[in-house]
Amino acid sequence: MSVSNGRQFLAIPGPTTIPDEVLAAMHRPAVDIYGGGMVELTETLLDDLRKVFRTEGHTYIYACNGHGAWEAAAVNVLSRGQKILVLESGRFAVGWGQMAAQIGVEMEILPCDLRRAVDPDALEARLRADAKGEIKAILVVQVDTATGVVNDIPRIRAAIDRTGHGALFMVDTIASLAAMPFEMDAWKVDVAVGASQKGLMCPPGLGFVAANERAKAVHRTADLRTSYWDWTGREGGENYQRHCGTPPEHLLFGLRKSLDMIFAEGAENVFLRHRLLANAVRSAVDRWSEGQALGFNIADPAQRSDSVTTVRVAEGRDPQQIRTYCEKKANVVLGSGIGALSGKAFRIAHMGHVNAPMVLGTLSVVEMALQALGIPHGKGGIQAAVDSLGGSVAA
Ligand SMILES: *Cc1c(COP(=O)(O)O)cnc(C)c1O
Repeated sequence: MSVSNGRQFLAIPGPTTIPDEVLAAMHRPAVDIYGGGMVELTETLLDDLRKVFRTEGHTYIYACNGHGAWEAAAVNVLSRGQKILVLESGRFAVGWGQMAAQIGVEMEILPCDLRRAVDPDALEARLRADAKGEIKAILVVQVDTATGVVNDIPRIRAAIDRTGHGALFMVDTIASLAAMPFEMDAWKVDVAVGASQKGLMCPPGLGFVAANERAKAVHRTADLRTSYWDWTGREGGENYQRHCGTPPEHLLFGLRKSLDMIFAEGAENVFLRHRLLANAVRSAVDRWSEGQALGFNIADPAQRSDSVTTVRVAEGRDPQQIRTYCEKKANVVLGSGIGALSGKAFRIAHMGHVNAPMVLGTLSVVEMALQALGIPHGKGGIQAAVDSLGGSVAA
């Protein structure tokens, strides 16, 4: 027996639910790449991405996923043999660093246990020890999608500033952009990367990079530059050059629509919506944890992301069982544990095009799974989620 007929709900941290409006915006013929509004469309998107990243700097759009955006950021500012420092807080910063290492830089990891955010004091100590300034770039993620942590980017920046270290500060916002506040200029981030398929509610296939003047200055002498990713190449006057070839037209149509939706809702409201829905998820997980069979991966509540929640299961329990039940019996797809949390956790994503019924429905299905599988859990998780939302969303 199952109750799974009906639309599948994707509660994985990317790709996320694509709004019907975005799907509809892409359902149209291709246009001339030199005309047909393509030139203006590119202009408005590059401009509006500045608003999303909160920067006066330069923005670039690539036909690629997040990994492509990582490579774009790395090759434009790094040179062979240089040292980079990766601030670990899960899977993704290290993945980015490994990619850069494969291209030709030397990577050092500032280790962190997987239940905590990056420690700014540990970074400060490491930078003070780098008297010769060998570290040329510091790589970190704002939200690590594996652990469910949100790193405090302003505090990390402040730690760098206390040492006066000149390394470029490079931040992956792929799982936080348009879900949690990010202030590229105010936080003095030199290079930021994003992607289309998470908070931005688009299909996978667009990667974004934003760079400030400092990064642009370093770019001039970077020797890992390659033609497709190259910023300078993309600043040519022709639209064809801005995309280094044919623009990914339909993805751009979709992005135009998703940015319109985000601006219409208002960034502040987008962030608050994510915060309140995340609070609902956390209220339920908190209650379930009373059964001792599952609990938050991130120990400190202030370090939990508003875009994804990573739930650990106790030793000897299989999170895959919960995922399989939710998918087979109720058509809800949860994220699996990845990296060091593989086989130890599942993930509930709550980013992008999500509202109360989507999140409450997902939580209800998880609770249904806990019940059906006989996994001990505190009762009333759904009530706690409802109370959280009812108490914060005023009439
Ligand atoms: C999803 C994700 C990536 C990778 O993006 P892909 O599009 O899968 O290449 C990188 N960093 C973070 C923080 C992510 O959440």
